[in-house]
Amino acid sequence: MNSPEYQPFQHTPEEIALRSSIDVPLLLLPKRGSLFAERALRLRQKAAGHAMRDYLMLMALVCEAQHERLQHFPQVPIPTQEQVDAAAASGEALLAADRWPRDPAWRGELRSLLRQVLDKLPADSPARAGVQAVIDLPDEPLEQQADRLLSGITLGLDVAAAPLIGAGLQLYWAHLVAATSALGPTVFRPVQGSNRCPCCGSAPTASLTRVGGKQEGQRYLCCSLCAAQWLMGRVQCTHCLSHEGIHYRGLQAADDSTEPTKRPAIEAETCDACKHYLKIMHMAREVHAEPVADDLATLTLDLLVSEEGYIRSGSNMLLLFGDPDAEPGPS
Ligand SMILES: [Zn+2]
Ligand SMILES: [Zn+2]
Repeated sequence: MNSPEYQPFQHTPEEIALRSSIDVPLLLLPKRGSLFAERALRLRQKAAGHAMRDYLMLMALVCEAQHERLQHFPQVPIPTQEQVDAAAASGEALLAADRWPRDPAWRGELRSLLRQVLDKLPADSPARAGVQAVIDLPDEPLEQQADRLLSGITLGLDVAAAPLIGAGLQLYWAHLVAATSALGPTVFRPVQGSNRCPCCGSAPTASLTRVGGKQEGQRYLCCSLCAAQWLMGRVQCTHCLSHEGIHYRGLQAADDSTEPTKRPAIEAETCDACKHYLKIMHMAREVHAEPVADDLATLTLDLLVSEEGYIRSGSNMLLLFGDPDAEPGPS
């Protein structure tokens, strides 16, 4: 892409100091009290003056409703000791998104969530019809859409409804993970070097290099469904796990050219071996970076790397890359 405002920014893996430590936590669980609230705040922050302002603001309303519903989520079954043992023995994720029997409560919570969004949307908002359509969706087609979404099947998937249904699934899984984690510290078994969430088996949205404490400078993959974060090698393809041919592309505002050492907070980590990429966000450069919100707000970077022939890996439940000619969800 040859946008006049931006120029590609690159640096090599050799420039990045590799660290390792035995004390680094392998898994960071989302915090019920802040997960969706921080995401909503970040979306509002990013929406100002953004080309996708209306969509980012709609998703901020969705995340605010997710936050409120998560504080009072109804009791639903969590894994039995037998299920915990079976998952540990098989190495499968305990709350595997494509196998865990969803409690019907998730549908009620989704509809309540969307009613809250409707209450906040302006009367003339073009997004209202899409939100209402998901509220009105009968149980069976709703469950079918959820199945497709969680299995990554795009055939027959309603791309406009998917981010709203995805928000309900995120809410349910965030609650499930929080409730299940009360069973004990070893209930989830992270496998080092895996590109799938140790709690729910989903793909990441992005990776985050963290600051503070034992996580300082460590890179974590951020689950697209339950928001758990798990440790991953610092310079490694998160799709094919190759350590070779990894490069970083960022967007740098042209007026930053006087400051050549200033690196972008969000980059695409590209892999020469499999030609995939996933975004990596650096908290040391932007402490408020939030994987889902910042991914949505940096679609220009996706355009840049896709024009270079790289394929996006991972997923963002709040934005589906289905038909490349389609609009990015309801707006
Ligand atoms: Zn997960
Ligand atoms: Zn790769």
